[in-house]
Amino acid sequence: ENGTVKADVQGDGQVAKTEEEDKEDKAAQSLLNKLIRNNLVNTNNQVEVLQRDPNSPLYSVKSFEELRLKPQLLQGVYAMGFNRPSKIQENALPMMLAEPPQNLIAQSQSGTGKTAAFVLAMLSRVDPANKWPQALCVSPTYELALQTGKVIEQMGKFYPEVKLIYGIRGNKLDRGMKIQEQIVIGTPGTILDWCLKFKFIDPKKIKVFVLDEADVMIATQGHQDQSIRIQRMLPQNCQMLLFSATFEESVWNFAKRIVPDPNIIKLKREEETLDTIKQYYVSCCSKEEKFQALCNIYGAITIAQAMIFCHTRKTAGWLAGELSREGHQVALLSGEMAVEQRAAVIDRFRDGKEKVLVTTNVCARGIDVEQVSVVINFDLPVDKDGNPDNETYLHRIGRTGRFGKRGLAINMVDSKSSMNILNRIQEHFKKKIEKLDTDDLDEIE
Ligand code: ADP
Repeated sequence: ENGTVKADVQGDGQVAKTEEEDKEDKAAQSLLNKLIRNNLVNTNNQVEVLQRDPNSPLYSVKSFEELRLKPQLLQGVYAMGFNRPSKIQENALPMMLAEPPQNLIAQSQSGTGKTAAFVLAMLSRVDPANKWPQALCVSPTYELALQTGKVIEQMGKFYPEVKLIYGIRGNKLDRGMKIQEQIVIGTPGTILDWCLKFKFIDPKKIKVFVLDEADVMIATQGHQDQSIRIQRMLPQNCQMLLFSATFEESVWNFAKRIVPDPNIIKLKREEETLDTIKQYYVSCCSKEEKFQALCNIYGAITIAQAMIFCHTRKTAGWLAGELSREGHQVALLSGEMAVEQRAAVIDRFRDGKEKVLVTTNVCARGIDVEQVSVVINFDLPVDKDGNPDNETYLHRIGRTGRFGKRGLAINMVDSKSSMNILNRIQEHFKKKIEKLDTDDLDEIE
């Protein structure tokens, strides 16, 4: 998190994140994404499908009817407001529901319909007449498991015979009991214990195994090991499904250990571009001057909604205070806020209840900036070594080609070193960042 001071234990100027912190960051980001997302992300990219058996025909569906779902489930799907399968669902669903069952590794960014797809597969595969677990889903954290559980409950609303139980720490069952629910969703440690140590679950009777958020899961070695141990207890013919938002080498290596003979579906995320962005910088000498420049900008142009990025929580808090004093309706996102609180702030901002959102970088990664017309880097993004963080810069102000509404980005520079960072960012993207004179702002609109 920006703004927290960590001990420089290695003495080499680098402060390494612990494995646990890294996992928590990723899990929190993922949860935030889920909490603030209420529809599918739009994408223009084509789904890439690699079939295990390249000779078998490639099925894709354009409607949910074609899937021959149980009527109760189709009703559940429509009650959720889904009219047609999402891009990855078009290919993933026929594969996931095929007989005999097929294994699948699927990668696509958050918000593309992965969860809905595997929930539908789990609900379709279990037999409510059998009072034992038949579908197992592991998630990296308790909170993420709960989110998936909610989707199961919503989609299974008209199919109440199918029951769900959470395999999470704190859910203590009596020794010797056998779970009767058909679907178990939880974290790897508890699920492993329930299968192995307590024998609440007979893993040999599992028909579908889902591993969600593989990229978050692999951030913890313990979770990797536990997931692999669970997988080894499952029968040969159990359907294995693995999902991930990203697909680095490490995720891929893990995925191959969890899912034998997989079909693979990938959907590239929409590329961000600076092509439709007007980029400016303002030269100042201090934080106070930067604030003054900001006020001048607000005085000169109409800004519907702006996001302002600061490097530390402290600066963000200060700036939010100053802006409120000027009469702006300001929302502040800060690292110490719980994920649910952050989601609430983002929701209010998206509803237009506040016009300015001041934030540090970490908090705002999940926000779609499509509706934000102005992004202000009150501090330029730098990595932990003080080098320009080009990726973050692009992510803050870039737009996906398709929604290429014109945008405006203003960078605040307050020292030789920040000017240097700005120049390096400019060189990196080979896009001119024009100087802006905040005493004469006619040029910018
Ligand atoms: P992911 O697991 O890839 O993050 P989700 O399954 O959570 O994606 O879907 C993202 C959002 O889109 C959710 O709000 C979900 O209810 C909605 N959604 C999923 N599938 C469809 C669909 N076919 N039509 C409309 N909305 C959908």
